Amino acid sequence: VAELISEVIVFSALEKSLYYSTPPELQDKVRVGSRVLIPLGRKEAMGLIYALHDGPVAVPAGVNIRPLTAVVDSSPVITEELVALCRWISSYYFYPPGEVVQAALPAGIEITPLTFLRLTSVGREEVKSGYSSELVKLLVREERALLQELKGKPDFRKQLRKELELLEKKGWIERVFECRPPAVRSRTVKSVRLAMPPDPAASAKNESLRSLIRALEQGGEWIPVRELRRSIKNCDYWVRKLEADGVLQAAEIEELRESQCAQSIPPVVPPSLTADQNAVMEAVLPHIERPSFQAFLVYGVTGSGKTEIYLRLVEETVKQGKGALVLVPEIALSTQLEALFRQRFGARLAVWHSGLSPGVRYDQWREILAGKRSVILGVRSSIFMPVSNLGIIIVDEEHDASYKQEDRLRYHARDVALMRASKLGIPIVLGSATPSLQSLNHCRTKRYHLLSIPGRVLDRPLPTFQVVDMRRERGGSRIISNALRKELLETVQNGEQALLFLNRRGFATFYLCPECGNVVQCLHCSVSLTYHQKDDCLRCHYCGSERPVPDRCPDCDHGALTAVGFGTERIEEEVKKILPGAGIVRIDRDTASQPRNMLKLLDAVRCRRADVLIGTQMIAKGHDFPHITLVGVVNADTALQISDFRAGESTVQLLMQVAGRAGRGEKPGRVILQTYNPQHYTIRSVVNMDYMEFCKEELASREKLQYPPYTRMLKLLVTAPNEGVTRDAAHLLASLSREASDLLSEHNRHVAVLGPAPAPVQKLNNRFRWHIYIKGWTSQDLQLFIEAVMDRMKTVPQLRRVQIAVDRDPVSSF
Ligand SMILES: [Zn+2]
Ligand SMILES: [Zn+2]
Repeated sequence: VAELISEVIVFSALEKSLYYSTPPELQDKVRVGSRVLIPLGRKEAMGLIYALHDGPVAVPAGVNIRPLTAVVDSSPVITEELVALCRWISSYYFYPPGEVVQAALPAGIEITPLTFLRLTSVGREEVKSGYSSELVKLLVREERALLQELKGKPDFRKQLRKELELLEKKGWIERVFECRPPAVRSRTVKSVRLAMPPDPAASAKNESLRSLIRALEQGGEWIPVRELRRSIKNCDYWVRKLEADGVLQAAEIEELRESQCAQSIPPVVPPSLTADQNAVMEAVLPHIERPSFQAFLVYGVTGSGKTEIYLRLVEETVKQGKGALVLVPEIALSTQLEALFRQRFGARLAVWHSGLSPGVRYDQWREILAGKRSVILGVRSSIFMPVSNLGIIIVDEEHDASYKQEDRLRYHARDVALMRASKLGIPIVLGSATPSLQSLNHCRTKRYHLLSIPGRVLDRPLPTFQVVDMRRERGGSRIISNALRKELLETVQNGEQALLFLNRRGFATFYLCPECGNVVQCLHCSVSLTYHQKDDCLRCHYCGSERPVPDRCPDCDHGALTAVGFGTERIEEEVKKILPGAGIVRIDRDTASQPRNMLKLLDAVRCRRADVLIGTQMIAKGHDFPHITLVGVVNADTALQISDFRAGESTVQLLMQVAGRAGRGEKPGRVILQTYNPQHYTIRSVVNMDYMEFCKEELASREKLQYPPYTRMLKLLVTAPNEGVTRDAAHLLASLSREASDLLSEHNRHVAVLGPAPAPVQKLNNRFRWHIYIKGWTSQDLQLFIEAVMDRMKTVPQLRRVQIAVDRDPVSSF
């Protein structure tokens, strides 16, 4: 009989799989994706079955295969399909497999293994004949003791290990394993139902009793007592009475927790599709009906009706009995979309974002895993949802940077989505008004299929543009130009709404000493602090720490500091001066960090309680405000100041998105762009609303400089609390990288090593940061390179003093 070997990964930074034999009594219970208890050194640990092998596997010599201790889950917590996806993620993003799987599971379901000690029957007999110790006395008295607790008790700690070893060898003491239940559990509520037909005569006497019985008769299945209390007087008394009489049965029944974020919107009749929308449907549908992998890029300007296409595609997928996964970039976007999706898909819909409580997430996840919900609308991490029989993946605003996770597992949800679709052999639809250059390039090379929707729904005209050259602005404030002020006044007087966009929150950008030029910086990060007027403090936008505004320059101790630059908080104050008494709503991370607050603010705009909406990029995306006719971009240059080859791309994408907020109703929109660089090609592209023209220019320059999408990038980020240690390790890692690169080029594989250099933010949360960029011409070359470097790294002790993060296809450069 071939032996069944379980390949197990543990939920820690261990890179390799472990192998265990499967005891006969567990052979029926082991399944890929189930959690198991395993011996690991002298401890017990939690692991997950990564694969099952019939017969011998190649294990390193000297490794002793031990048996699994127990199977924890009665059914797998992660599907085999997702396990395979995690395997790919682990190797592509260089992240330990156990931690990848952990990221794919909802928080709070972790189980802690507990080890109990107890006397065996042999031990019990022997103890009677005289052997005694504190440990034995305790076990006689309390039947069993938790090992983890004993280790913490001073009386036991010293002797415990020796004695345990001795008594275990003698067979007097044994270990019993149990698991502490997870932190997040299902919720139950007290519910009742009829157990037998009530005696009509008995109930005739009392009105409350009559209505209770009526409710029970009409309710059929379990009814929560909480609901009955609303309409029935003395409800609890009568419930107790009927339960005692055996007329009703009471029990704790599970109640599902739902997302409470959806806005209520009046029922909408689905609009009929335009010819362009229909063309998209016709291209994608065959791939849903006869499943096959194909990536589509739907390029449509804002207002072209992409959402309706998504809804229809999901509808068709559901009709085929399959599931659909719809990814959206940010929580604000998902709350508005949620209402639309809920209207169409009702109880089939599950939503997934960070604003949900762990309990809601847990319930939704279990429903998805059980196959009860087939339509999932969610942010980045919903790419890990265990949708059964997945039939389509849709990634809206595919260019959005929030799909990239910037810490720990640095994955890009769009790229993972493409891999998932291709492994499953199903279509994937990427949508955007401003597609990423990467995706556009894939269309040119025919890897993706490009579907354009050139017009807006109902042929609404695109907004008109006015560029204001801030260098020539005289008089008034240098924040809101005369032209913008005039338009603002007119718009509000006409009963219309205006939106002012500035991608920087706070009041002043930084505090400067006019004597020595010192800028007040964060004590933990090498970035300037932003002044927030409401709390009268300086705040770090990277680590969140705060400090009061110093009276004098902390460096030279001369004169008072001056506030320089401005953020959304300051804009709000300026608008109050221009339009006293006008309704103003400001949306940024200071006012709308909670989804609930965000909804309240958005509602104020939608119900026209606000005349002016001021905000950061949080308001740039997705929202449909039909009464906004004026959009003012307060400083179109902010994003351009970043030293990143993607700065132009992200600026154009953001500005076009903001401009797209104007004139989504019946009245045409106007956009005012304030800039110090009116001739810059990004500003010109926005004004002409010609994204493709911009892309042509940008792609040509990227090709010349051999930047992505013509090459692939990888960043090695070295961090440590000590500056010298970080710098030295970065230099060491760079020379290791160059050795590896030389070796690869002998095999005709080429990568370029750039750096090391201090990262743009040289210190973050008290850790110094250096980076090395690796450029590769194919993905395989980069993969071989990083495997070679990782192997070498392990042999260098100095590198153990720093943290090295691998960032594949990096998006941000800070
Ligand atoms: Zn100074
Ligand atoms: Zn900081």
